[in-house]
Amino acid sequence: MAHLTGRWNDVVRAAGLVAPDGTVRATVFAEMSALATRTGAINLGQGFPDVDGPAHVAEAAVAAIRAGRNQYPPGPGVPELRSAVALHQERHYGLRVDPDTEVLVTVGATEALAAAVLALAGPGEEVLTLEPYYDSYAAVVAAAGATHVTVPLRVVDGSYRLDVEAFRAAVGPRTRIILLNSPHNPTGAVLDRAELEVVAAAAREHDVVVVTDEVYEHLVYDEAQHVPIAGLPGMAERTLTVSSAGKTLSFTGWKVGWVAGPAALVDAVRAVKQYLTYVGSGPFQYAVADALTDDDGRTRAWLADLVGSLEKRRDLLCEGLETAGFDVVVPQGTYFVVADGRPLGFDDGAELCARLPDLAGVVGVPVSAFCRDGATGEGFRSAVRFTFVKQEDVLREGVRRLAALRR
Ligand SMILES: *Cc1c(COP(=O)(O)O)cnc(C)c1O
Repeated sequence: MAHLTGRWNDVVRAAGLVAPDGTVRATVFAEMSALATRTGAINLGQGFPDVDGPAHVAEAAVAAIRAGRNQYPPGPGVPELRSAVALHQERHYGLRVDPDTEVLVTVGATEALAAAVLALAGPGEEVLTLEPYYDSYAAVVAAAGATHVTVPLRVVDGSYRLDVEAFRAAVGPRTRIILLNSPHNPTGAVLDRAELEVVAAAAREHDVVVVTDEVYEHLVYDEAQHVPIAGLPGMAERTLTVSSAGKTLSFTGWKVGWVAGPAALVDAVRAVKQYLTYVGSGPFQYAVADALTDDDGRTRAWLADLVGSLEKRRDLLCEGLETAGFDVVVPQGTYFVVADGRPLGFDDGAELCARLPDLAGVVGVPVSAFCRDGATGEGFRSAVRFTFVKQEDVLREGVRRLAALRR
């Protein structure tokens, strides 16, 4: 494995990927997927759909390629997509953004988040995230030379909630960015208005920018509702809202993302983005523009079916995990459920995941991979993330196999 000596060594170290001998390991996601391939286990680790997104949107991409839209798109993104993002924000949330100055198209949400952190935070400044957190956050905070501060989510009445007291205590004069994620990967938590009010009040008080990762904005279940923090009083002027087509449309390989917010902040993100990738995903931008504009309502109908089906698949997996003996926190959104292995006698989720192919022919990802070293607090050390964005028969077979743990 590689041995990094430059600045990026700090980045991989912050991501927990440097082995005791100084070499750089693969991410746990790659490791667990390789484990699944090697052992023939069912991969409920990595979260990508095993069926395609809507056919009419795929056709729009084909049409864009055939129409010759294959050269570099404009730096900020094609106008059709910027307008569609603005329309989407207005239609779903009543948020108004100017497509010319307040929307930037990026190579997935990942690039938007990286460019935002690199643009706005630096040495001596703090970036606050929830814990557990999406794995790229720690890497880009380290790349910016900033300090990563985390606030844990905790289980309250059967769902993961923000530790409000810990959050208030963590925001201070050195906080530059609050990097939020709701609906939340890996816990499936959907922050409610009261929690977001706490975040917003702290951001206003300390004059902090909120960068909010909303890639699962449409994948919420039961009575839960996604509330964009940009819509709270005084927040539009200090919030960068990040989303992408990957999760919403089940086209995770297209890597079409965007960021929306006040022109000055979006400009700063663009200043970094132009030297990361410059542009990307040309023809797919037109297809996503069609999907978001959705003149004929086909995308809305497809999405409603997807959410209904994901909700059923979530229930199937959650019930199976409970039957197998896990403690399960039923998620309100996303592709994922977190299950605790302690009732099965496993205190260490990483160890459980390493043995799971042998014990049950299934692969999951330890939640410790979403936590800082040594900060994997009480709740998360023994926790495992499983995905339910797999076809129902795959989940049924996974659940059947997991039942072996009980014996
Ligand atoms: C999948 C995911 C992303 C990455 O989105 P892309 O559009 O594929 O770059 C970002 N944040 C979270 C929380 C995710 O789960």
